[in-house]
Formats: sequence, structure tokens, C-alpha cells
Amino acid sequence: MTQEAETATDGVRVVFQAGVKDILVAETQRLGAKNALVLSTPQQSDAALEMAETLGELAAGVFCQAAMHTPVTVTEAAMAHAKEVAADCIISIGGGSTIGLGKAIAYRTGLPQIVIPTTYAGSEATPILGQTENGIKTTLSHPEVLPEVILYDPERVATLPVAMTVTSALNAMAHAAEALYARDRTEKTVHLAIDGLKAFVGGLPRVLAAPTDLAARAETQRGAWACGTVLGQVGMALHHKLCHTLGGSFDLPHAETHAIVLPHAIAYNARAAATELLPICDLLGGENAGRALYDFAQKLGAPLALRDLGLKEEDLDRAAELATTKPYPNPQPVTRDDIRALLQAAWAGTPPA
Ligand code: NAD
Repeated sequence: MTQEAETATDGVRVVFQAGVKDILVAETQRLGAKNALVLSTPQQSDAALEMAETLGELAAGVFCQAAMHTPVTVTEAAMAHAKEVAADCIISIGGGSTIGLGKAIAYRTGLPQIVIPTTYAGSEATPILGQTENGIKTTLSHPEVLPEVILYDPERVATLPVAMTVTSALNAMAHAAEALYARDRTEKTVHLAIDGLKAFVGGLPRVLAAPTDLAARAETQRGAWACGTVLGQVGMALHHKLCHTLGGSFDLPHAETHAIVLPHAIAYNARAAATELLPICDLLGGENAGRALYDFAQKLGAPLALRDLGLKEEDLDRAAELATTKPYPNPQPVTRDDIRALLQAAWAGTPPA
């Protein structure tokens, strides 16, 4: 049964339905497209080829070179391919890396995008594009970047390995957690953030008990949509800044880094925003939102220490420096020494103070 969500972002069509192959042709035709270019990472090329086969004459081609952090060199190669096959629509099947490539093409060409998310990262619901050129990652926000259609199929996320299911879910929850104390939050965005958190707190244990339980996967995908949507609507703070620094300058993996840093960043900000963070305590139990998230992550078997991702202890000084040079809005004042202490705990995997 198709369930179309009411979207908070005008103009985006969001469909929650198993069996995306049954509706892909109709969704492509709905956009008036006749020549769709399907994108994926090399690891998910089978899924991309399957979509192209489903599209039949509506498929212009397949480009399976999407990579983490959207390198501009890859975008340029994809753009050349899109031009060569006269693509009039982009279909991205994958996580944030593939969706990022689709967004980068849309930003440059205005082509409409259909996105089939296979992780919980939430990029599909934001007008934000992060790109890397010459080792530097920059972020922009533009209406053209926001995909026109999102097709959430629980079967497509059911293939996500358990470890990545956990870290990707915590990545999504991080958007909602920081939305709770965002300076530009509204009643509506706070509700959406709480809905997103609730969906993961309820759905994730069920998913881990039975990874192919499609009803549980669908619940977590609703969470991903809610968390991604608030990410696009309000400003993020310390947590996202730290993860951007660790990913961009130390090449740490995206979802795992979010999973590890989240309890520490939230504990840090709970000093100034305990009331705003109460929904996390209500959902997870406990009196400190950061500690509650740490216990939740530990129970789910998430990685807890940045050192296990390969970060060296001697890099912590530079990481603290990089994350505190440019001021940005954050509930708790950000000082270099405090952030250095936070990073030490996250590096060692000890519970947040
Ligand atoms: P990813 O897209 O990099 O995927 C990680 C790996 O898992 C890839 O090899 C991928 O092919 C594989 N994979 C994905 N789904 C799978 C599935 N269902 N089954 C099996 N394998 C699967 O990971 P991600 O965490 O979704 O995305 C990270 C990227 O997204 C980062 O570059 C991040 O900056 C970006 N991001 C952007 C936004 C935004 O709003 N712009 C939001 C969140 C994340």
C-alpha cells in the first residue's frame, strides 16, 4: 500500500512503499522524464542495474562511481556521462554518497532527482550539498539540490549490514538531537525531531532482532525522513561541526564518527540545554541526555571509541584546534580546552562526563 507522507518541505513528493520497482516507471513518467541516468556506488552497482532494467526504455544509462564526500572529479565524470546520454532525470539509489552525487549533478544542471535511500543518513530530505575538491570539503544549500521525489522502500534498507544499520541510525538521530536546541527551531521542527527520535528508539531494537522485518525497517525509514527533514530546516551546532572536522581533516568514516561523537556532544550541550534535551531522557531513560545516548549506543553494539576508527591520540590537539577556530552558534560556549577534553573521552570511548 502506498503511503504518501505530508512533507514539511514544499514540493517534495515522499512515498513510503515496499517494492520500489513496481512504481519506478510511473514515478519517472510523472516527472515527464524519458531518459533517466541511474547512480550508485560501485558496491551497489547491482541495484543500479536492476533499476535500469526496470526502467527499460526510460533508462539512459548507469553511472556507478559515486564516492564518499562527493569528489568534484567524480561529479565531472558523471556530468560528462549525463550529457553524452542526454539524461533528463537522475535516479540515485544508495546512501548519502550516491545521493550527494545526484545532488551535485542537479545543482549544476537543474535535472530533477528521484532518490531511493538505502541508509538512514537523511541527505535525500535536505537542500544541502557537501563536495570535496583538492582535499577540502565545502557545503552549500540551494533549492535545486533538494530532490523532487523520495521513494522509501524498506526492502532496500533491509540489506544494510547490522553494524551500518546502527551507526547510520545514530547518524540520523544526531540531526534530530541537535535540532532540539537549534537557535532557529520552531514548535514544528521540535515535534518532527522528537518523531524522528521516537521512530528509531522504537524501531531500531526491532530491526536488530530481525533485520529483514519490513515493518520495523519502514518505521526507521520514517525516522530517517523526519531527522533528514529537520537537518534541512534548522542550523546544526557542535556535534555536526566536530564530525565535519573529523571526517574532512582526518578522513574518518561518516556514520561511525557520528555514532561515537553524539553522546559526548550532547552531554556537553546538556550543560546549557538540559530542558531542550529532555525528550531524549524521556525516550531513553536517565537524567543526562548524553549518558542516555551513550548507554543506548553501547546496548546496540555501536562503536564507542574514535581510536578504533584509526584516529591517533596525537591528532586530538589539532582536531580541537580546527573545531574551535571559527566561532559558530552553540548552546554551551565552545572553548578549545573543553573540546580537547570531549575529544579525549570520545577517542578513548569512556562515557561522557
Ligand atoms: P554511504 O552512502 O557512503 O554508504 C556507505 C557504504 O555502504 C557504501 O559502500 C554503500 O554503497 C553501502 N551501502 C549503502 N546502503 C547499503 C545497503 N542498503 N546495503 C548494502 N550496502 C549499502 O553512507 P552514508 O552514511 O549514507 O552517507 C555518507 C555521506 O553522505 C557523507 O559524505 C555525508 O557527508 C553525506 N551526507 C550528506 C547529507 C546532506 O544533507 N547533504 C546528510 C547526511 C549525509
